[in-house]
Amino acid sequence: MIDRRSFNTGLGASFVTAGAAAYGAPAAAKPRYNGPNVIIVRFGGGVRRRETIDPDNTYAPFLRHTLTKRGILIPDMTIAQLDGVDASHAEGTLNLLTGRYLAYRDAGSKVLDDRLEPTQPTLFEYLRSAFDIPSHQALLINGEDRPQEEFFTYGVNRHYGVAYRSEMLSLHRFKLYKFARILQEGQASDEDLAAARKQYEELLAADTRDIAPKQSPDVERFWGRWRQHYGDSGFKNPRGDRLLTEIALRAIGELRPRFMMINYQDPDYVHWGNASHYTRAISIIDEGLARLVKAIDTDPHYRDRTVFVVTPDCGRDANPLVQVPFQHHFNSRSAHETWALVFGPGIVGDKVLDKPIDQTAVAATVAGIMGFKAREAEGTAISEIFA
Ligand SMILES: [Zn+2]
Repeated sequence: MIDRRSFNTGLGASFVTAGAAAYGAPAAAKPRYNGPNVIIVRFGGGVRRRETIDPDNTYAPFLRHTLTKRGILIPDMTIAQLDGVDASHAEGTLNLLTGRYLAYRDAGSKVLDDRLEPTQPTLFEYLRSAFDIPSHQALLINGEDRPQEEFFTYGVNRHYGVAYRSEMLSLHRFKLYKFARILQEGQASDEDLAAARKQYEELLAADTRDIAPKQSPDVERFWGRWRQHYGDSGFKNPRGDRLLTEIALRAIGELRPRFMMINYQDPDYVHWGNASHYTRAISIIDEGLARLVKAIDTDPHYRDRTVFVVTPDCGRDANPLVQVPFQHHFNSRSAHETWALVFGPGIVGDKVLDKPIDQTAVAATVAGIMGFKAREAEGTAISEIFA
């Protein structure tokens, strides 16, 4: 287990080995990964501190009252007020994954707005370039109606990129798998085959990167089991953020990820003006967190070997007098206010870190926990998290 001293003085023995084998080295030459597993839970869709970490007003009681005892709460994390930095979902997520601001560009989709791709390496790429970890053990779990976040599995930095990508698990990816299989099998009625072809082509059109490379065989088998369980109707699996929890739990059991990010998103439905959608979505993420933590605590492969990092993508406006409250695109102070909770082996327990921390610190901190260096990250690792 990495302690604070090795963290501060060069990130421990595992980093020394990893550094020599970092970028460009063939997979066989890279060291096996023996560090802790890390799960980043994006408490996303934009949430305010008040409804999440404020003990008197929280809609996430498990997070606030139970999990904080197991780790270190960082209540004053902020997204910097810089020119061109929007406090929003894709942007905040890429700040977390790259450890920088504005490390993204428009990916040029005509179909969707807000479609960004990273221009600097992501944590997935740093990890997989340093260690011999297969792509299906570095996972990104995404919501069903956010194909624009399908781009976060790798950046366009020339030293890293697609060879070190993560695998993506989402309903979008499952449907691609399912319709391809239905067409390949050719057993459905002519009418169903025509419908499957149409849907398959629409899914492909929504992804300008043409989802290259294809999903790995391990992930294809994962979807095969999912399809067997839920059938082809698409109606039986849970929806929204409950679906993300379900995919994540199955992935933990079947793919054994070493690093996973779960992009919860449903509090964002408050854009349409109904505050109860927002608070209810926070509770659903909280229930998901409880299920994930229980799964980790009861699995010998993960128990005492897994660090959780829970943090939002962005905050939300605090002004209750505007026509549609809870927005986040107006650069208000509270839209830039987030927080983080880190807990797991080696992490200090039942502590509140009483100092301001920048959102870009998360990437450097995860790198420190896992024993690699996020070379292009600008944030500073939070050394106070270690016991
Ligand atoms: Zn939003």
